[in-house]
Amino acid sequence: MHAKLLAEFGITPSGSHIVRSPIDGSEIGRVAFDDAPTIAAKIEAGVEAFRVWRDVPAPKRGELVRLLGEELRVHKEALGRLVTVENGKILQEGLGEVQEMIDICDFAVGLSRQLYGLTIASERPGHRMMETWHPAGPVAVISAFNFPVAVWAWNAALAFVCGDPVIWKPSAKTPLAALAVQALFARAAQKFGEAPAALSQLALCTREAGELLTKDPRIPGVSATGSMAMGKIIGPTVAARFGRSILELGGNNAMIVCPSAKLDLAERAILFAAVGTAGQRCTSLRRLIVHESIYDNLVGALKSHYAKLSIGAPLAKGTLVGPLIDRTAFEAMEQALTAARAEGGKITGGGRAREGEYPNAYYARPAIAEMPAQTAIVCHETFAPILYVMRYRRFDEALALHNAVPQGLSSCIFTRDMQEAEKFLAASGSDCGIANVNIGPSGAEIGGAYGGEKETGGGRESGSDAWKAYMRRQTATINYSDALPLAQGVEFG
Ligand code: NAD
Repeated sequence: MHAKLLAEFGITPSGSHIVRSPIDGSEIGRVAFDDAPTIAAKIEAGVEAFRVWRDVPAPKRGELVRLLGEELRVHKEALGRLVTVENGKILQEGLGEVQEMIDICDFAVGLSRQLYGLTIASERPGHRMMETWHPAGPVAVISAFNFPVAVWAWNAALAFVCGDPVIWKPSAKTPLAALAVQALFARAAQKFGEAPAALSQLALCTREAGELLTKDPRIPGVSATGSMAMGKIIGPTVAARFGRSILELGGNNAMIVCPSAKLDLAERAILFAAVGTAGQRCTSLRRLIVHESIYDNLVGALKSHYAKLSIGAPLAKGTLVGPLIDRTAFEAMEQALTAARAEGGKITGGGRAREGEYPNAYYARPAIAEMPAQTAIVCHETFAPILYVMRYRRFDEALALHNAVPQGLSSCIFTRDMQEAEKFLAASGSDCGIANVNIGPSGAEIGGAYGGEKETGGGRESGSDAWKAYMRRQTATINYSDALPLAQGVEFG
C-alpha cells in the first residue's frame, strides 16, 4: 500500500536513511541525505534562481502558485494519507493539513497582486517619496515533524509570490511527504513553463548539515519551525551574520474556563486541543486553568471523555488518537508524568496503549494531571498529550498564571462574561501571539498572521502582512524639481 502511495508521487527508494511509520514501526522508504558539498551546490543554485525569479512580475509568479494549488487539490487524498502514514496523525488531520496548503496557495495568488507599498508625503517641494517592496533572496525553510507539509506551504507560497526561491530542510522523520510535495511543485512548474530550475529545492539532511543553511550569508532569510532548543541555536547564528529569522518555536498553550462558560463547548474544545494530533501540535492545549466553582464538574466530565477515547491506527475510521512519533517522545511523556507526580500532581491516564498489537510503535493514553500549583514541569513544553489542570479563584489570578510561562504561542478563554473576554484580549491580558474567545487554542486559520511571543520566537508567517518578512523594503525619493533642497531645511555651501 505504501509503495502505491509513493508511486503516485514518483518516489522510489534510494539512499541509506530509513524512514519508519510511527503507526507500526515498519520501514516505509529510504532516502539519500545531502552532505556539505551538495548543500553548498543547492545554495548556489538558489542564488542563480533568485537572479531570474526576482524579475518575473509578481502576478505571474502568482500563476505558478495557483498551479501548485491545483496539483494539491488533485492529490489531496494521497498526500493526506502519506502524511498520516509517515507522521501518524489521524487521516482527517492529514487531509486538513493539505487543505491548509491549498488555502495558503489561494491566499498567495491574491497577494501576488497586492504587494503594496506606500506613497509618503515629502517635506521637500517637487519631490515624491515612496516605499517599494523587493524580493529578498533565497529563503531557507526548516520544518518540524508534526506539520510535515503545511509549514513549508505557509512559507513557500508567500516566498514564491514575493520573488524568493526556497530551500527546504524538512524533519529527518518526515522526508517522504517533503519529496511528494516537491514532486507536485515540479509538475506545477512544468505547466508554468518559465520557473527557474532551482526555485524550490529540498535539503534532506541531518540537523548538523542543516546548520549550513543558517550560516550562509547568501540566504538572507531563515524560517525555522521546531523546538526552543533549536531556536536557541539558529536564532543567534542567523543574527550573528545580520540575517533575518522567522522563529516558530514551542508553545505551552492554556485555556481559562470561567464560571459563565458554556461547558459543553469548552469540553469539546479541550478534547480536540489536548488529545488531537496526540498532543503533538505546537498549539496543543497543555494547561487548563479552571474556576473553582466549576472545577469538579468540568474535570469529572473530561475524565469520562478521556476514558472513552479511541486510540489506535490513524487511518482507521473513528480513531481520535494516533501514535506518538517515536519512542523518545513516549519516554519524554513518561518522564514528565513522573515529574508531575513528584511535584504533587494527581494523574489520570498515561502509559502505553495497544502495545501487544504494535510492539514497535508508541501509542500513549492521554493524561490529565491535576496540579496543586503551576510547578516547574507545567512551565515546560512536553510534546505529548498531557493536560495540566489548575484551579483559580479570582480572574486576575488566572490571568497571572496564564502568562507566567516562558512560551507565548496560543491562548484562549471560555466565558460569556464580556468584561472577562475583553480583559483577556486587552494589553494587560494574554501575552500570546494568538488569543481566542470561546475557541480552543489550536487549528488557526491561514488568513491571520501565525506565531508567538517570548520563547516561541516572535516570528509570524502565513496570513495578514506576514509576507513583508520575505521582502526587503526600499524607501525611494524622486526629485522632479529644478532645485536641490536638502531634508530638514539644511543649507550646505
Ligand atoms: P526539532 O527542534 O527537533 O526539529 C525541527 C527542525 O529543526 C528539524 O528539521 C530539525 O532537523 C531542525 N534542526 C534542529 N536543530 C537544528 C540546527 N541546529 N540547525 C538546523 N536545523 C536544525 O523539533 P521537532 O521535534 O521536529 O518538532 C516539535 C517542536 O516544534 C515542538 O517544540 C513544537 O512546539 C514546535 N513547533 C512549533 C510550531 C510553531 O509554529 N510555533 C509549529 C510546529 C512545531
